[in-house]
Amino acid sequence: MTTRLQNYFADRWVDGTGAGQPVRSALDGQAVALAGSEGIDFAAMLDHARSIGSPALRAMNFHQRAGIIKALGQAIIERKEELYALSAQTGATRADSWIDIEGGAGTLFTTASKGRRELPDDVIIVDGDLEAIGKTGSFAGQHIYTSLQGAALHINAFNFPVWGMLEKLGPALMAGMAVIVKPATATAPLAEHAVRIMIEAGVLPAGALQLVVGAIGDIFDHLTCQDVVSFTGSAETAIKLQSHPVMARNAVRFVAERDSLNASILAPDAAVGSPEFDLFVKEVVKEMTVKAGQKCTAIRRAFVPRALLDAAQAALTERLSGVIVGDPAREGVHMGALVSLAQREDVRAKARALAQECDLVFGAIDDVEALGDAQNGAFQSPLLFRHDRPWEAQAVHDVEAFGPVCTLMPYDTEQDAIALANRGLGSLALSVFTHDAEMVRRFVLGAGAFHGRMVFVDRDSARESTGHGSPLPMLIHGGPGRAGGGEELGGVRNVKHYMQRSAVQGHPRVLSALIRQWLPGAPQPVGADHPFRKRLGELELGYTLHTASRTITLEDIEHFAAYTGDNFYAHMDEVAAAASPIFGGRVAHGYLILSFAAGLFVDPAPGPVLANFGLEHLRFIKPVKPGTSIKVALTAKAKSLRTPTMGEMRWAVAVTNGDDELVATYDLLTMNAV
Ligand code: NAP
Repeated sequence: MTTRLQNYFADRWVDGTGAGQPVRSALDGQAVALAGSEGIDFAAMLDHARSIGSPALRAMNFHQRAGIIKALGQAIIERKEELYALSAQTGATRADSWIDIEGGAGTLFTTASKGRRELPDDVIIVDGDLEAIGKTGSFAGQHIYTSLQGAALHINAFNFPVWGMLEKLGPALMAGMAVIVKPATATAPLAEHAVRIMIEAGVLPAGALQLVVGAIGDIFDHLTCQDVVSFTGSAETAIKLQSHPVMARNAVRFVAERDSLNASILAPDAAVGSPEFDLFVKEVVKEMTVKAGQKCTAIRRAFVPRALLDAAQAALTERLSGVIVGDPAREGVHMGALVSLAQREDVRAKARALAQECDLVFGAIDDVEALGDAQNGAFQSPLLFRHDRPWEAQAVHDVEAFGPVCTLMPYDTEQDAIALANRGLGSLALSVFTHDAEMVRRFVLGAGAFHGRMVFVDRDSARESTGHGSPLPMLIHGGPGRAGGGEELGGVRNVKHYMQRSAVQGHPRVLSALIRQWLPGAPQPVGADHPFRKRLGELELGYTLHTASRTITLEDIEHFAAYTGDNFYAHMDEVAAAASPIFGGRVAHGYLILSFAAGLFVDPAPGPVLANFGLEHLRFIKPVKPGTSIKVALTAKAKSLRTPTMGEMRWAVAVTNGDDELVATYDLLTMNAV
């Protein structure tokens, strides 16, 4: 019996009311499921996300949301074998499915852990420092991010149904936005099951996640300026969706990840037989065959120095001839099937367009030797094209055959190689195989504007290189121009796509209360208790200790120099120090000032301060001559929970001289008991 995929609408699984569209196995063309969303009230779906899911997420802080995202990743891992079984029907090998399923869960884990480490236990992200505006410091500006109050609509491509869903889901949830996922129909069974696993994990608040299997009906008619559409797929669909009148009228955010004619370049310094030559050949073949080339980042255009064209062709075809295509369940198969016969027809049509201007030097467009049901399975031979005059070619720079297809081309100079890479008119990824560090800089200056990510591979990095085609959760994924102009991933940068940046102006006292951080100019109350006697929960932001003074003598400086071995002339050589335009005579070591400052503000007995774990933003502002007395203001600046029993306390430290001039400032970080 064919499974009927269900939509997840307003916290219930519901069938579409129509007959449903069959989803077929990539391996034998048999219908494996029916997908359909007829009958869904899309306005109500959006409303449910906006009025139930998003507010529930916004009521949690980033760390609580991170906990949910991590739990979703764990649920996927615990039930991964159910997903591997469904993934096999899409034509994927076990290795392809690993990228999708475990790579997807890994992306959630990274999103969660970055959220916990890099975002506060709050709901606001602070962007940059306080901007002083008023002369006396009573009026200032602060940039911040707050959560959008709409829904995130994620429209995904067929190729990585789990990873493609999770790499967007994690950041949106982290930002406090409920998500409606619309997977591509061709691989909807896998996406639907992954959603089922996440719902059954029981960690998501009501309304935080909904699913549409099939068409999205009139949902675009109901989008507002608070919603975000994040799309992955073809340029054709992206343009269609982006042209919907509501998108312009309501300025709905649209993040697009579209086609990309990614290039890989064997740099001029790489000779035949060099490690870089061999690495290049290996990478091009890997990119052609992993996921049967259905990767947005795959190498579509491979460029080599003209003198190496024949050698590169020979090495590539030799390696390609070892690739066994077929049903991944069969012994020895390296490359699985395309996702469907329809997709294969699309790849073949595009390959025919390339064949109009290129020579096919490996494989056959319409013929494939495959271990499996070659009649009904969507198997495709890898296709390597060659074009000797790339500036005369058109299709090769414009047509993306989304399968195991690549074109080998020569370039004449380094600048020519850069210009050819840029001829893709905006790409997700560029790889360059070179051992020459200076060349790397020239490539980046020449090609950076056209590429979202650039990877340089050589003999030193090869062992640990993640390769040309792997988007990583901590690095941005996306590209300008043809690639859609969108940006995803990139650590917590991704969260900000679902938040609004605002400039807030007011008195530092108000801004300080807003961002839950003491800011210069905000009140600094004092009290009878030393701040080190207070637990994290008891410390009021702004609470300040003003210490006694201590005079720094020449003996102190000499003692410190002898004790530490730091005999720098500014501290120890009166003549040289007097000649210095900065010091004008002997001065105290900066580290001596820090040490004395600690001696002034530390409260020694065991207590809530568990450890000092660093200093940040240290600046020595004014030299301190022997005879100067210094004192310290230690102010509770910010706190952030790290575990249920411990939290990070940030203190603003201001060291001043007898004339109340600042001589040093820094942030001191301590770990405190809650
Ligand atoms: P697609 O045909 O454009 O479909 C993408 C998504 O849009 C699917 O969920 C599809 O749903 C939906 N869709 C199609 N027409 C729609 C419409 N009129 N209204 C609303 N939704 C619509 O692309 P694909 O064939 O799945 O994916 C292959 C393409 O994606 C390639 O060109 C590849 O370059 C690109 N891609 C890019 C990236 C990237 O990160 N840049 C990643 C992967 C893929 P249905 O399946 O139900 O039609």
